[in-house]
Amino acid sequence: MQIKPTHIEHIGIAVRDLDQAISLYEKLLGTPCYAIEEVPDQKVRTAFFKVGETKIELLASTAEDGPVAKFIEKRGEGIHHVAYAVEGLPSALKAAEREGMQLIDKEPRRGAEGMQIAFLHPRSTLGVLTEFCEEPRTENPS
Ligand code: ZN
Repeated sequence: MQIKPTHIEHIGIAVRDLDQAISLYEKLLGTPCYAIEEVPDQKVRTAFFKVGETKIELLASTAEDGPVAKFIEKRGEGIHHVAYAVEGLPSALKAAEREGMQLIDKEPRRGAEGMQIAFLHPRSTLGVLTEFCEEPRTENPS
């Protein structure tokens, strides 16, 4: 199978101060943040906004050694990753690997909003940390 995302599910933006970023984005997007969630797995607190079918995910690190803290240290605040909605995440990962892309996650794991997610290494995707995500199956509630 080929990888064929249905849409950009969200764009992740790394920020230092989540509360400040939320108030800026509420003005920028003219819509309130609809969810704040901590994802201990990734050592982040996330805040979500809807823009049509796509979301903006603000990410602030909860630990000095977290991946988002390291990202900001190296590259400053800004776009952290692009997330594509795919149907059939495990086979999308296999297809990406077959195409020579480097997987950070060989298996889907649980991300914010109960989504199944997996990342591709930016080294193999022209410097852009790339996420695939899929709504959880109903027979497998989180
Ligand atoms: Zn994401």
